[in-house]
Amino acid sequence: MSGAEGSKIRMLSTHVANKIAAGEVVERPASVVKELLENALDAGATRIDIVVTAGGRKLVSVADNGGGMNRDDAIMAPERQATSKIHDVDDIENIATLGFRGEALASIASVSRFTLRTRRPEDESGTEVSIVGGRLQDVKDCGCPPGTCIEVRDLFFNVPARRNFLRAFTTEQAHIRNVFVVHAIAHHDVAFSLKCDGDVAYQLAAAEALRDRILEIGGADELERLVPVDCTLGAIRVHGFAGLPSWTRGDRNGQFIYINRRPATAPVVLGAISEAYPKLEDNRKPVLYLFIDLPPDQVDVNVHPTKREVRFRRLADVREAVIAALSTALNRAGVAAPPPAAPWTPPPALGSSPWTPSQPPAAPWPQAAGPAAPPVRPLPSFAFAPAPRTPAEAQPTPTPPAEVAFSEATVQMPAGSPWTQFRILGRLSAGYVLLETNDGYTVVDPAAAHERVLYEKLLRVAAGAGRVSQRLLIPQSVEMKPLDHRRVEGVLPVLEEMGFGIAPLGKDAFIVDAVPDALAGASCEAVLLDTAAALEDAGAGRRGRERWREELVAKAASRAAVRTRGALSAKELNAIVVDLAACEMPYTSPAGRPTMIFTSFRELDRRFGR
Ligand code: ADP
Ligand code: MG
Repeated sequence: MSGAEGSKIRMLSTHVANKIAAGEVVERPASVVKELLENALDAGATRIDIVVTAGGRKLVSVADNGGGMNRDDAIMAPERQATSKIHDVDDIENIATLGFRGEALASIASVSRFTLRTRRPEDESGTEVSIVGGRLQDVKDCGCPPGTCIEVRDLFFNVPARRNFLRAFTTEQAHIRNVFVVHAIAHHDVAFSLKCDGDVAYQLAAAEALRDRILEIGGADELERLVPVDCTLGAIRVHGFAGLPSWTRGDRNGQFIYINRRPATAPVVLGAISEAYPKLEDNRKPVLYLFIDLPPDQVDVNVHPTKREVRFRRLADVREAVIAALSTALNRAGVAAPPPAAPWTPPPALGSSPWTPSQPPAAPWPQAAGPAAPPVRPLPSFAFAPAPRTPAEAQPTPTPPAEVAFSEATVQMPAGSPWTQFRILGRLSAGYVLLETNDGYTVVDPAAAHERVLYEKLLRVAAGAGRVSQRLLIPQSVEMKPLDHRRVEGVLPVLEEMGFGIAPLGKDAFIVDAVPDALAGASCEAVLLDTAAALEDAGAGRRGRERWREELVAKAASRAAVRTRGALSAKELNAIVVDLAACEMPYTSPAGRPTMIFTSFRELDRRFGR
């Protein structure tokens, strides 16, 4: 490629190209596990055993009992763009396998000491191929069981820049366990095991049904909070399990979404999920094990080498199918569906319907079949509940009874508060509280206000000013997904400072025997899970520690506030308004949402042209 003197463009050697591709495909040891797992599954394995040491930095080994390779294929496999899965461009339209780019093995082998041992069941002996840093070292016959075993040692040994980016062993290990779980759920019929530094982390027998696998991984608690989903709309089948609206998390780590059995996601699916669920406070995410199956030519998986995002040919169909499946399942479980968003038209009447759910579906909504469907709020209109002048004037109102208990008394506040006096006029049907304040009126969002109040209280607690914790009557054990466990484990001291009595319990669990006073009654599990998510957002640096704490307190506060949402009595609302005014930063929730909107009488005068 020498060209004329002065030209700068050169073809990269394959060697360098592989190393660059490795940057895209292999981000961390968990990516190696993912690629090797997918290859094993593509090879039709029914049993896959994984061994990692030192968070996968020293060794990732994946052994399967799949179809194996003959000698020529074994030598070819780690070559760039070597794949047995597609032959020409048209095949890309119809991909049924997990891999197809022929990039993974080449990339992995270019940044590690790589050994592949493989034998087809019909062959007498197997083949062993060793590659170091992308250079073929040795090919020889070997004795090995049918199937393939790939060992990847010293990942990134020749790419110091990447090596330095790896996190602590335990963090990498948690990522590996996550990848493992994601695939184990997608393939319940395959036996999997994972061994980390000599300890068996998972040993999963081939299961008959998805529910058995979820039971084995998540326990009975998890299963109890799920409802089965199974619905086919046209060519699209949506099945799996959906978490009850009460079983949510602050992040998407509890959402296992698969498109044609491939762990994947797409904005349209996430949008459909939130449309199907009743509005969840604080943007919380339901727990889901959702499989979307559709003809391969309806979905484009060739978007990015590792990104799990796919594109659908017919967005609207996917959206409809997901909404129909989830709302049918939730409906059956007695959960009232949200009012349909404008562009969504309910599916056609039963007779003409293309649905084939396993049971006849209830009407799309809201006549829930279940017993305790919460009533649909009557009107989004201005159903104002006035504070009666005297008890005699009190009229029965159709809105919740708490409203009539508001006192009209004016409350005086210290100077420096957003208002020096106020009276609560009532609660709007949308849940807002209306106050008359010094020189105007203020609409308060009680949820945001409550969060702010709790947040500042908890911060004071965390700062040590009179930390109080409450012993639990019965210590609670809280089980977690590996990545969460790892995150929580890293901040145990912070949690203790906050008033948690918490200690590790076995592999994936904690035992909690005390909680901060302000959180008494909240679900430990939810608070800890939120904490875990908050920590991820806040980063792990030492400087982040203070932010962690605040983040953590904010999450805890929002959790505790959610718990009481809707159930606040007039007295509690009064207290919140008083406490809010006394807050250091009363105008926003810890997450930055406004707590109140003030309109001055002057502004009103201006608008009315007085
Ligand atoms: P891709 O999976 O995209 O085809 P890979 O680099 O991951 O690319 O693998 C290259 C090829 O090596 C595969 O197409 C397959 O033929 C073969 N191969 C890889 N792993 C295995 C395995 N565990 N069992 C059998 N064949 C395998
Ligand atoms: Mg592959």
